[in-house]
Amino acid sequence: MPAGADLDWLTRGFGHVWLPYAQMKHVDMPAPVVATAGSRIVLADGRELIDGIASWWTACHGYNHPHIRAAVQAQLECMPHVMFGGLAHEPAYRLAERLAKLAGGDLTRVFFTDSGSVAVEVAMKMAVQYRINRGETGRHKMLSFRGAYHGDTIATMALCDPEEGMHAMFRGLLPEHVIADLPRDEAGEAALRATIERHLHELTAIIVEPLVQGAGGMLFHEAGVLQRLRALADEFDLLLIFDEIFTGFGRTGATLACHAATVMPDILTLSKALTGGTLPLAATLASNRVFDAFWSDDPAHALMHGPTYMGNALACAAANASLDLFETEPRHQQVAAISAQLRAELEPCRALPGVLDVRVLGAIGVVELDRPAERAPLMRAFIEHGVWIRPFGNIVYLTPAFTISPDELSTLTAAIHATLAR
Ligand SMILES: *Cc1c(COP(=O)(O)O)cnc(C)c1O
Repeated sequence: MPAGADLDWLTRGFGHVWLPYAQMKHVDMPAPVVATAGSRIVLADGRELIDGIASWWTACHGYNHPHIRAAVQAQLECMPHVMFGGLAHEPAYRLAERLAKLAGGDLTRVFFTDSGSVAVEVAMKMAVQYRINRGETGRHKMLSFRGAYHGDTIATMALCDPEEGMHAMFRGLLPEHVIADLPRDEAGEAALRATIERHLHELTAIIVEPLVQGAGGMLFHEAGVLQRLRALADEFDLLLIFDEIFTGFGRTGATLACHAATVMPDILTLSKALTGGTLPLAATLASNRVFDAFWSDDPAHALMHGPTYMGNALACAAANASLDLFETEPRHQQVAAISAQLRAELEPCRALPGVLDVRVLGAIGVVELDRPAERAPLMRAFIEHGVWIRPFGNIVYLTPAFTISPDELSTLTAAIHATLAR
């Protein structure tokens, strides 16, 4: 679309769309986008923004990667979608095998869904029915952590940080789980052990985002935390669920965070970068131990779940193409280079007034402020600098595409420094 083209659709539609995480009475009109390419978002007036957050952590290869585009186009020609119950297609079956191999350990079974929250709900359902199928009654609760984010649906909100998940506001509606602090040291481990002992009769699983709690505040923890959780899960015969919807596919430096931590879960969830940011898709991977509890002559022991768009062929074709790119392009070296550059270029922010912390892990760069940021004016300032960065709470962060150029990344870090300095 040429610059200055008709934006009638924007003003008319603005009266009808209901936007995410927004007080509609005061929300700014969103910036109209007409195209994307690489790390660039092209606005209707012709301006280009460098995307610092890869569209909520999805577009890890940059936008419109030709290999993914070709795969989706070829799939569209022959079959965009076919139901998954009773019918099979190559993109999903090939993807299941590839994801099982990529995850490793004995995470051999893949259940496809269409969003991260639903993948987490499926993980919860697996963990609860695992007990039911084994004749253990009353064990339907999860142990999750302060600072966690596992989704926005009602079941997953209940696993989030109590404040972020608005547990008080939705009291009576949300199921109550056990929410604890991450065991960061031996004292933390002792406290968590006591919590588990108190609730063991009703617990089935521990769920955690490994290495980075994302939307709950970009909070990092050491691999030792996950090793403690694995040991406690084994000691008390609990399942361990890793929600890698944010951390998966190279974001922390390793292919999966569980690989970096050398701790394997019993259930793993993936989404966000799974299709390289092109189509919605999610997966819940189960270990043999979990799957075996459903393997039975009793029909009631089956997992009764099946989203309409399960295993969507277009999305699976995109995901297979995205996995190809991790094999053929130097993503891990790119993440290492981004990491070093973020470390060097965000560090000066530490000296700015109002900055509490600067931290980097893999291709995640975080500037934590000492109070919640005023999002709207900050975002307006970022757009003036030609960058797309969307802070939340007291967190200003970068999670760029792994294909971003050093110059583009410098523009992003300079925009953060200049904007926070004002
Ligand atoms: C984004 C996210 C989810 C929810 O995924 P949706 O696709 O938005 O439902 C769940 N867990 C984690 C760790 C996430 O980052």
